[in-house]
Amino acid sequence: MDYQEVLDTVREKVTPLIGCGRVAQYIPALATVDASRFGMALATADGEVHGVGDWQHPFSIQSLSKVFSLALVLDRGGDQVWRRVGREPSGSPFNSLHQLERDRGIPRNPFLNAGALVVVDHLVSLTGDPTRAVLDLLRAETGNVDIKVDDDVAKSEAHHRHRNAALAHLIASYDNLTNPVEVVLDQYTALCAIVMSCDDLARAGRFLARHGRRRDGTRLLSRSNAKRLNATMLTCGTYDSAGEFAYRVGLPAKSGVGGGILAVVPNRCAVAVWGPGLDKSGNSCAGLAALDTFTTVTGWSVF
Ligand code: GLN
Repeated sequence: MDYQEVLDTVREKVTPLIGCGRVAQYIPALATVDASRFGMALATADGEVHGVGDWQHPFSIQSLSKVFSLALVLDRGGDQVWRRVGREPSGSPFNSLHQLERDRGIPRNPFLNAGALVVVDHLVSLTGDPTRAVLDLLRAETGNVDIKVDDDVAKSEAHHRHRNAALAHLIASYDNLTNPVEVVLDQYTALCAIVMSCDDLARAGRFLARHGRRRDGTRLLSRSNAKRLNATMLTCGTYDSAGEFAYRVGLPAKSGVGGGILAVVPNRCAVAVWGPGLDKSGNSCAGLAALDTFTTVTGWSVF
């Protein structure tokens, strides 16, 4: 397979869709991002990396950080977290309050904002500093020591985080938060504000295509936890569009409102795509089209 040719073909086919959708408005620092950006990178399980377009341009990873937080919790805390968060698709927006109320403070899955707040709380207890732990992991897997939190984005989200604060307080009211709400919110917001390129993300996600094995050959996750994390991404990683996403792409994936999507082809590669314009569920519009085209062109999917 000529990976570069595949990526060039994908870009050519999605060119008419680049710029589609609407850039996230509710975090002011994201509202000014140029919607016509597009990048895509592929990192193979055995170490090759290829890319097209803006694949080396850093962007706000937002909810993509939820994959790495959960991986660290599964690595360090084992299965305990599953007592505090479910693993069913939500069918509701990623920041829904009424679903959390109905579920009595046990978020439906770890990739909703509510679920990620519980995961981050768990990681505060396990590490003391989830942001540092996630940055260490990302830097080690990518070899890029410059990966960092964008303080402007973090501050911008912090000023507008009423809904996440409401979710955190509601979780706490059901005794499902161990650490102070403000500590969990600050960590959650910093994790969402990490900036990475598609190049970085594809490299960082490679352990998911390698059954939990890190770049240096050691294990981040057991084989079985790597399977579970991929399965949860497939069923819950793209919010209330997880069904449509699985239908069109057929791969485990996680999206973020910064316009990034990280997808996994087990045994083969991790693929990261970025297009800041979002569809109504908060998934990158051009990114979804690119991954749809990618699996059609290569014939790769988990099905
Ligand atoms: N920081 C965003 C929020 O909490 C992340 C949401 C997302 O990427 N879906 O709303």
